[in-house]
Amino acid sequence: MNKKVSYDFDDTLSNGMVQHHAKLMKKKGYELFVVTSRLSDEEIMRRRNVSETNWNNDLYFVAKHLEIPETNLVFCSYGPKYEFFWDGNDDFLFHLDDDLDEVDGINNMTNMEAFHFPHGNRKAQLEVLNNIKDRFL
Ligand SMILES: [Mg+2]
Repeated sequence: MNKKVSYDFDDTLSNGMVQHHAKLMKKKGYELFVVTSRLSDEEIMRRRNVSETNWNNDLYFVAKHLEIPETNLVFCSYGPKYEFFWDGNDDFLFHLDDDLDEVDGINNMTNMEAFHFPHGNRKAQLEVLNNIKDRFL
């Protein structure tokens, strides 16, 4: 059975409730990925012509906390995320994202499912996380 699940970072996996959710998924044997719009540190350093950056330290901190290996961190460099998934990577159970354009793009352009994590409204956020739990846990 396919056990890969994907989370956006900013305003999604950066949120403590989502981290808790991801921890539960991991405990049940799912493999966690972060698929972010951000540039990778390497790309930042290349573009700025500098030899170090702390640009993604917050992301790495959370990834380390959730024991997500660096090979499971995908930086999309502000391209649409469906391009990553349709490029031979649509074998995920779901992707969770606060950006409705990304969610629609993935749902329209790939065979996998994306869920919207709404801004601000804690009740609506919990509802989405509970729906995913009901479906997959
Ligand atoms: Mg986001």
